[in-house]
Formats: sequence, structure tokens, C-alpha cells
Amino acid sequence: MDLGIRGKRALVCAASKGLGRGCAEALAEAGVALVLNARGAEALEATADAIRQKFGVPVTTVAADITTEAGRAEVLAAAGDVDILVTNAGGPPPGMWSDWDRDDFIRALDANMLTPIALMKALLPGMIARGWGRVVNITSASVRSPVPILGLSNSARAGLTGYVAGTSRQVAPFGVIINNLLPGIHDTDRAESLDRGVMAAEGVSMEEARKARMQTIPARRYGQPSEFGAACAFLASQHAAFMVGQNILLDGGAFNATM
Ligand code: NAP
Repeated sequence: MDLGIRGKRALVCAASKGLGRGCAEALAEAGVALVLNARGAEALEATADAIRQKFGVPVTTVAADITTEAGRAEVLAAAGDVDILVTNAGGPPPGMWSDWDRDDFIRALDANMLTPIALMKALLPGMIARGWGRVVNITSASVRSPVPILGLSNSARAGLTGYVAGTSRQVAPFGVIINNLLPGIHDTDRAESLDRGVMAAEGVSMEEARKARMQTIPARRYGQPSEFGAACAFLASQHAAFMVGQNILLDGGAFNATM
């Protein structure tokens, strides 16, 4: 399918690895020029090179922490006018409800709620002025179904989801489409670090920890970043013009519900 976005320009945040990289690759395959961000320059440059070589699109890199005001300013200055924004950042650490104080919540809200909101606030006016834009926010399956040890994530992402629900309807009249993608368990470094937590807590091997988690997923496997990226590219495409403010779950059927 031709996604109709060849020649557009996208900013993909937190994109040197995992789900962000999956989104960057799928957009590059559709012919989109990229601005990629992550904190670590080495992995970021390696990813950018691999994408340039494989897909032949221009890729600009900005090594910066997207959750800080200074980092965002650097990224936005390099990005300039973009047609497509994919927001993403690392997820907050796991723990118990009783572990977290105000500062922990402020950090989680900054990273997973206020950062995507700040990026949208900066880039939506240009999209509106040009009469075309797409925003895809990487949130989490925990928005639909809580992961109890990820209370910081559950809270911050629920806030972002509420913001998108209203804002997406305010910008839709101008050809600007905002949707959220909700990953269930995907095969990335993040999933591995959570599996390591299970290993330590339950005294099991990595293989046993993975196997047990796969049993909770009807598809009986973890998702792949490439599958996630394909869904992101669709939401960024011309074909998603009538999908407004949706929360699309990619979880292999793990969330058990009729609708
Ligand atoms: P990942 O494999 O650990 O990759 C994270 C990427 O984000 C890396 O490129 C990392 O590079 C970059 N990054 C992290 N913090 C950043 C920051 N502050 N500023 C800029 N770049 C940053 O993680 P993932 O699995 O792709 O997860 C992406 C998001 O989806 C996370 O918020 C995660 O909580 C959420 N999620 C993941 C899953 C899953 O199963 N994988 C499920 C539900 C939700 P640097 O470290 O060099 O910055």
C-alpha cells in the first residue's frame, strides 16, 4: 500500500532502539525524511546510518534528553517544520504504590505526559498553518489495563491520554490527526529489563520469565518493533485522515475484552 507520505518530514523521539526505531524504519520505508533523537550519540548515529543506507532518506540526528526543556529546544531547533511527530521516551521504573514520592511523580509526568504535550504545543501550529499533520504518541497498554508495578507509568500516560482525547478534536478541523499507539509486551531492551526484574523477584531464569509472560499473551510471543512501526506509519499516512483521538492497542490479545 502506498502510504502517500513520500517526501514528508518526521521527528521521531527516543528512536535509536526499540519501538521508536521501529517507527523510524517504517516511516523511512514510506519515503519520509527523518529527524531522530535519543540521549546516547553512539547508538543514535549507528541507527541513523543503517536507515540512510537501507532506505536512502535524509536522516538528521540530535543526541539530547527529550524530557528536559534544553533537550527539547535543541531537538525542535534541528527539526524545524515537521509534518509528522512521533513522541516517545523511556518508561518510568517499576515499584510499589508506597515507594513513590512527589519528585518521582514529577519525573514521570515530565517524561511521559508533559514532554509529549510540550512537543505537540510547539509543532501543532505549523501543521495547522500548512493544513496537514500527524501525531502518533507511543503510550502503553497500561492505559487500558494497569500493570500494577508500573504505577508511575499508569498515572502519567493516563494524563496524556486525556489531553489527546480533547486536543485531537480541536486540531482535526485543520487536517491534523493525533492518535495514540499502546504497546503491549514487545521484544526490546525495555521488555528485557522488566524480565530481569521478574528473574530477580521470583528466582527464575530469563527463559522461564519470558515463557511465563508469553503465556499471558494469546499470540504466545512478544511483539516485534517492526510490527509496531508498521502501525505507526499507517497512523502517519494519508489513509488515517478519518481516525481521530484513537487509542490503538498492539498487545497480541493480552487485554481480554469484547470491545
Ligand atoms: P527501549 O528499547 O529501552 O528504547 C528506548 C529508546 O528511547 C532508546 O533509543 C533510548 O536511547 C531512548 N530514550 C530513552 N529515554 C530517552 C530520553 N529521555 N530522551 C531521548 N531518548 C530517550 O524502550 P522501548 O521498549 O522501545 O519502549 C519505548 C516506550 O514504550 C517506553 O516509554 C516504554 O515504557 C513503552 N512501552 C514499552 C513496552 C515494551 O514491551 N517494549 C510496553 C509498553 C510500553 P537512549 O537511552 O540513548 O536515550
